[in-house]
Amino acid sequence: MNTQILQFNINNIDICAREIAQGGVVAFPTETVYGLGADALNKFAVKKIYEAKGRPSDNPLICHVSNRTQIEKFAYITPMAEKIIDKFMPGPITVVLKKKGVPDVVTGGLDTVGIRMPDHKCALALIEACGVPLCAPSANTSTKPSPTTALHVYNDLNGKIAYILDGGECGVGVESTIIDCVNGALLRPGGIPKEKIEELVGKLNDPPKSDVPLCPGMKYKHYSPAASVILAQYGKNMQDRIKKAYDSLCGKKAILSRLGGYENRNVLFVGNTVEEYAHNIFALFRKLDEQNYDYIICEGVPEFGVGAALINRLVKASGGNII
Ligand code: AMP
Ligand code: MG
Repeated sequence: MNTQILQFNINNIDICAREIAQGGVVAFPTETVYGLGADALNKFAVKKIYEAKGRPSDNPLICHVSNRTQIEKFAYITPMAEKIIDKFMPGPITVVLKKKGVPDVVTGGLDTVGIRMPDHKCALALIEACGVPLCAPSANTSTKPSPTTALHVYNDLNGKIAYILDGGECGVGVESTIIDCVNGALLRPGGIPKEKIEELVGKLNDPPKSDVPLCPGMKYKHYSPAASVILAQYGKNMQDRIKKAYDSLCGKKAILSRLGGYENRNVLFVGNTVEEYAHNIFALFRKLDEQNYDYIICEGVPEFGVGAALINRLVKASGGNII
């Protein structure tokens, strides 16, 4: 299969919607990262997503909708979800609700479904043209950093899908915040800060224990480049810890830094703000992989706002290698 990158216009939306109607998968931009979408009601199409990504099929997929009526049609809206939908949708947030008629292959056999309405005109136009929810994980090969440009998607999935809809660079750069609205819990920090959600709905519960493998030495790696990632905790002596780790490593190495202060060591600037750091992180991981780096040492950031989402991704990318 020849993978074509199509610019965002009405004609190309139509081509992609037809591909999806025929049971195909299409990559499309959202405000968080690029998604790999299929008709959520067509289980054969959904299986193709898992095949293209090389992702285990017990991992539930988020359903992307373009309006509120679609949420009502496919899920039981709780009072907490009602508030979140009103205030934050469209936006980088996913609500997990009891499902209505969504195939098991989409939800990993769970009786709940994750639903989100992306704040991106290209994504909304595509979903609207399809007339069905599009279930979509990030459009990368499983375990690789999430894609934030059409070219990232192409580099991972060329030959595996027919079309990539190109809507430019994603704004947020990290995935959506996931809220379990049945149990009132934060499942994943993301584009909308936990603090803002708690202002609206009150204190959220912590995710189930198995979802927070924060201890050093954990096995689970995700969002990760081929290079080994080392995360420096934000706080006292961070720069000193980073310099010491850098100097002890043999191989091609870089420090991802917002704050500087590393003398003549090899530093890549991630942006001035935590938001810029989050926006750039996955693209930087990919760039360093192209250049065959062995080690990437990442500065930590304060763990609130989008900083919490960024730290969550960096901990996972590091596989627990935290200094
Ligand atoms: P993404 O990595 O952005 O593709 O989002 C997929 C993630 O959303 C999954 O790995 C789960 O953590 C979460 N998710 C999606 N649907 C559900 C659900 N029904 N229940 C719990 N978590 C879900
Ligand atoms: Mg992903």
